[in-house]
Amino acid sequence: MPKLTFVGGIHPYDGKDLSKDKPIKAVLPKGELVYPVSQHIGAPAKPIVAKGDHVITGQKIAEAGGFVSAPIYATVSGTVKSIEPRRVVTGDMVNSIIIENDGKYDEVEYPAKIESVEGLDKKEIIRRVQEAGVVGMGGAGFPTHVKLSPKEPDKIEFCIANCAECEPYLTSDYRRMLEEPEKLVLGMKAMLALFDNAKGILAVEDNKPDCIQKLSDLVKDEPRIEVYALKTKYPQGAERQIIYACTGRAINSKMLPADAGCIVDNVDTIVAIYQAVYEQKPLMHRIVTVTGDAIADPRNFIVRIGTNYGELIEEAGGFKEQPEKIVSGGPMMGFALFGTDVPTTKTASALLCFTKDEVSMMAPSACINCGRCIDACPSRLVPRRLSVYSEKFDEERFLAENGMECVECGSCSFVCPAKRQLAQVIKSMRKIQLAKARAKAAPPPKKEEAPKAEEKKEAVKTEEAKEGKEEKKDE
Ligand code: SF4
Ligand code: SF4
Repeated sequence: MPKLTFVGGIHPYDGKDLSKDKPIKAVLPKGELVYPVSQHIGAPAKPIVAKGDHVITGQKIAEAGGFVSAPIYATVSGTVKSIEPRRVVTGDMVNSIIIENDGKYDEVEYPAKIESVEGLDKKEIIRRVQEAGVVGMGGAGFPTHVKLSPKEPDKIEFCIANCAECEPYLTSDYRRMLEEPEKLVLGMKAMLALFDNAKGILAVEDNKPDCIQKLSDLVKDEPRIEVYALKTKYPQGAERQIIYACTGRAINSKMLPADAGCIVDNVDTIVAIYQAVYEQKPLMHRIVTVTGDAIADPRNFIVRIGTNYGELIEEAGGFKEQPEKIVSGGPMMGFALFGTDVPTTKTASALLCFTKDEVSMMAPSACINCGRCIDACPSRLVPRRLSVYSEKFDEERFLAENGMECVECGSCSFVCPAKRQLAQVIKSMRKIQLAKARAKAAPPPKKEEAPKAEEKKEAVKTEEAKEGKEEKKDE
């Protein structure tokens, strides 16, 4: 039974007016393209090209490193310049394939497009999604073919299109729903073809009435698809919150959405499913919102993966004021950047450039016991106490008070009048506890085959993917 909202949450200034009314603009990259081999949860992709190779748009340049992994495709034609570590938005150096763009955009020939998935074998649908390198584009990067292959597909009752886009400033899903709603609906039909007992839900926050209307018109003759208007509230697009809002079913950190009979994917991911299944095109583009008060002409761009962030800022007219803070992703859950010399990846939804006015410069002070963080927490936790346990590294109390149920939404930090870094310290503690749990569960390596540090890191990521515990917003 739909609840259409959840308990807790916040109503931050949404900043969406800056970019929401301008149509999506295509960007052609000028400089080199950088493709990190880890743009997803799971094993890194393995390069299948070498320095000096000529490649064309749509050519596979790295194959999946395992089942929980995804291949990567060239998004321009040109020459492989090198394969070397490059910095990504998290600040990490990641092995990357560098392609010098020849500006010709020669492209592979794709098979003829199909108009319907009727008659297409379920295995073939999943194979196409896997081959296209589709991953969760809302931030988590979980390989989509794995998500579409639950143990008991007959128990899936809901395929939920996460059209909430609850993070402030982000408008890429909004523009996609207005400009290409047919692709979203066709992508949903491909998902429903995999789950005979499922209903499709297009779950849109009610601050997007034009999208609700457009999608409702499109699905009026689709008996298996319905549009839900969700209450506008952050973090409505978090996986647990959207499942609860749409179905009344609750999941916790030890469960997967499939345990509650649900599969959740965001708008861009479902459009990528459409392209993979109907057009047999690999994932090569994504929409990125470039906005914030420091940007001269905020808007959405359709961007070739691998394009440098600096070029996106140029396309958006550059800075009209020196930014105080630059963030990749949403302001609540994104990564603050030290610089813009990083590539657009499959999971990069936005580039936000804030001026001093938009960044609160208040220093944290002592807790005044106002309780606002408790009211705001969608996981019904006591962030004030959890943050103290995290700071004191009191693991026992942190776990006893369900610290692992935090969805890292940042609502507590946002509402705290004392500007305490609640979410940040809780997140750090969670990461330590997750790593400990994984280390405990992993079998000890044989002495002569002890893995190297890099392999260890990837194994941990793969384990996270299997467990599906690194849940992120808007997946
Ligand atoms: S970050 Fe965690 S503790 Fe803070 S409001 Fe969100 S779920 Fe609650
Ligand atoms: S919102 Fe901030 S000041 Fe209020 S109880 Fe929570 S931690 Fe303390």
